[in-house]
Amino acid sequence: MYERRKTRLIHVGGVAVGGGSPISIQSMTTTKTDNVDETLIQVHALATQGADMVRVAVPHEGDAKALPIIAREGGVPIIADIHFSVRLAMMSIEAGVHGLRLNPGNMRNPKHIKEVADAAKERGIPIRIGVNAGSLDKKLVEKYGRPTAEALVESALYEISLLEEHGFRDIKVSVKHQNVPEMINAYRLLATQTDVPLHLGVTEAGTPKQGIVKSAIGLGTLLAEGIGDTIRVSLTADPVEEVKLGKQILKSLGLKEDGFDFVACPSCGRAELDVFALAGEVEARIEKMDLPPMQIAVMGCEVNGPGEARDADIGIAAGPGRGLLFSKGKQIGWVPHDRLVDALIEEAEKVAAEIRAASGDGAVTTGGVTVVKGAGRAGRKVDPIVPIGMGPPAG
Ligand code: SF4
Repeated sequence: MYERRKTRLIHVGGVAVGGGSPISIQSMTTTKTDNVDETLIQVHALATQGADMVRVAVPHEGDAKALPIIAREGGVPIIADIHFSVRLAMMSIEAGVHGLRLNPGNMRNPKHIKEVADAAKERGIPIRIGVNAGSLDKKLVEKYGRPTAEALVESALYEISLLEEHGFRDIKVSVKHQNVPEMINAYRLLATQTDVPLHLGVTEAGTPKQGIVKSAIGLGTLLAEGIGDTIRVSLTADPVEEVKLGKQILKSLGLKEDGFDFVACPSCGRAELDVFALAGEVEARIEKMDLPPMQIAVMGCEVNGPGEARDADIGIAAGPGRGLLFSKGKQIGWVPHDRLVDALIEEAEKVAAEIRAASGDGAVTTGGVTVVKGAGRAGRKVDPIVPIGMGPPAG
């Protein structure tokens, strides 16, 4: 849907980043990395929720010593987050991590940059340069008066040059700012200056109340412009929430097809039942199901309800005492209110099985309608909308 910016392709373990690869989601553990058990539990939780790679902080030698087992048992590529220390960077590389986050500008000795670049190159480990408004070089802050978008980009380009002068090109870069317009401008500007894949993030976005909105706007704006190759949502919360939100941002933009897409009306004075309760119950049930990409709609009345329900893979439009169940554009029948959730779940299971079967041979017939793989909802025959009040009595 969006034309993606052309970037160079790198690999973090088995995950391709840039070069038109799917946009990957990452997060960072909040455990002490030297606590291997707790860290691995969190890494696995993040991976289960959809993290493509996970970063761990490596501030001390004990953390670096924990890396071999975490990198081996994590199940997803592990990125070591290093600041200043060439020794910890070298230990992390030796430990078998799949990526490093460090800023070579923090290493005062040019020999150290070469040492890390050579070792990472030999092992095929990429490096993310993480420029951050809060830790920007003082000289740049003085030059620009504050951490402006231009200052972040100047820092990023300088840091990239420090690695590239040693022939190291497996780089991704971030220019994070807690101010959303400044963050957007920084990435836009950087995108015009380099083909290095971009790691998007609004830094210190805060608690979910604010952070969800800031991240959705910051990341969403750039992604809709084709900018961004990998994302990290930063929330003052369980990092699992970061991954869920990252997935939701990508799904909302049509950049990731993963599981169900839930459509529910906000309810209003026309609602024929408690839409909040119905939507909540349906969401709770379908969250536990392993569904292929499909859209499920729950609508509260017969005004917009039948149209939306019909256009989804499965939908319910409520009427007085009963609701009309749709599946793949066909009216399945009227269902009493107290059976709506069960009927929808049963139909979801059926359609999910059909979608899976279709993914093998390209086409499937469901409810008398042939759905051609890849045709999407636009290629589907649908029933004409019948006003719910005109249907047969609820039964
Ligand atoms: S679908 Fe009906 S109940 Fe829901 S918001 Fe629209 S008009 Fe109101």
